[in-house]
Amino acid sequence: MQFIETRGNDHQREPHVTFSQAILRPMSSFGGLYAPAQFPVLSDKFFARHVNSSYQVLAQAVLACWEVDIDADVIATALQRYDHFDDAQEPAPLAEVSEDLFVSELYHGPTRAFKDMALQPFGVVLSHLAQQQGEHYLILAATSGDTGPATLETFKNQPNIKVVCLYPDGGTSDVQRLQMVTEQASNLKVIGIHGDFDDAQTALKTLLSSDSFQAALAQKNTHLSAANSVNFGRIIFQQIYHIYSYLILVRRNRIALGDKVYLNVPSGNFGNALGGYYAMKQGLPVEKILISSNQNHVLTDFIRTGHYDLRERRVVGTSSPAMDILKSSNIERILFDLYGASRTRQLMEALEVERHYQLTQAELAQLQMIFSADYADDVEVNQYIRQNFAGGYLLDPHTATCFKAHANCRDKALPSIIYSTAEWTKFSPTIANALDDVADLPDEKALPLVAEKANIDVPPVITALFDKPLAHTAVIDKRDIEQEILKFL
Ligand SMILES: *Cc1c(COP(=O)(O)O)cnc(C)c1O
Repeated sequence: MQFIETRGNDHQREPHVTFSQAILRPMSSFGGLYAPAQFPVLSDKFFARHVNSSYQVLAQAVLACWEVDIDADVIATALQRYDHFDDAQEPAPLAEVSEDLFVSELYHGPTRAFKDMALQPFGVVLSHLAQQQGEHYLILAATSGDTGPATLETFKNQPNIKVVCLYPDGGTSDVQRLQMVTEQASNLKVIGIHGDFDDAQTALKTLLSSDSFQAALAQKNTHLSAANSVNFGRIIFQQIYHIYSYLILVRRNRIALGDKVYLNVPSGNFGNALGGYYAMKQGLPVEKILISSNQNHVLTDFIRTGHYDLRERRVVGTSSPAMDILKSSNIERILFDLYGASRTRQLMEALEVERHYQLTQAELAQLQMIFSADYADDVEVNQYIRQNFAGGYLLDPHTATCFKAHANCRDKALPSIIYSTAEWTKFSPTIANALDDVADLPDEKALPLVAEKANIDVPPVITALFDKPLAHTAVIDKRDIEQEILKFL
């Protein structure tokens, strides 16, 4: 399998790269990304053969169809990470909320958010490649809450890899912050920044283009890579659960093989939804992919009108912070797949320079064959949490946004699968507020309150956080980041 560039080739880089090249150096010509040159076709026979397969066996089979240049035993080791989820037999359980509505729970990994589904195996693969090539990598991550813990968790104590994670001090939940600052390993560094997520992200970008920083890294024989979903190494693992959840519906006789379903994805950077789109391209019977957002509804507007417009928009803080995002990186891979490289480059450059672009009517029609979208605000999110709780199902604020699209975006009476991206424990103050009308409780109080109401236990990995010693205490000014990182290296 070869990978090609979403904005075309600049005649300096290779026009085609292998999977391992694409994940070690994720940026391509003109600031573009890598995307598959073609897709495997998963036949009816393939699906029939895997109706009863475990998650790990299905993943192995799908990845084999992709013919990536990673040894089968490395893939097997990477997939063993799922054995440490809550239930090794069922790392991504499918809950039944009503007769035609199912929830694929993607948060049963070590950091209680769906980032683990891809980052857990990805960490093994990347570290293996670095060792094989005798290279050292620095992974820089700026996080608003879930990517940070999942990146630290997957790379801790992995050879040839160091991770520096920047988070906005005061900008994450208590649980998310503790998941980072209590993570103890000599190859990890966590730094709090005075400022918000945009400040952390901007500081990181400044660093990436700093000559003195690059020179210092070169001296230490260290390359930079990325662990966010611009890296295809994450996307490849994010198609599996879309296929798996469909096959569970077949296994349970809820649908027959070949019947169509809706996929409903709470979206920010669009990696999760892209995984669903790629599964559909390979032959998964999907009617449409419903995209759910919060008040930062740039994606909803784009899918409805073909106008991607950042002018007049500011990120607003919501109760689903992992979706508080306006520049959604993986839309670029959709543009590339639908309209080709030169059009993608034109549109992405317009977004950078003019801060908006408009699809043609024909392009919009193509997009709307695949996607439909809606968004829910915080008040609606609270209602969905409360309603579902009354019906016996506890969900987090990101997952809750999907119920609006579920109500409004289906034109056929087909079953839907909502992809649940976080456990409620990461956002317990919002849940306490929705269920009990108490505002601004700290996590330490909100967790037991919700657990008691729901008559469930808080997982030990979460309760233990409050007693763990702090491994990282630095909270610094943006200007001091470079020095702090070099000190660590
Ligand atoms: C990262 C994240 C999302 C957004 O996923 P994308 O793949 O970036 O669209 C949604 N919900 C939660 C809880 C997340 O951590």
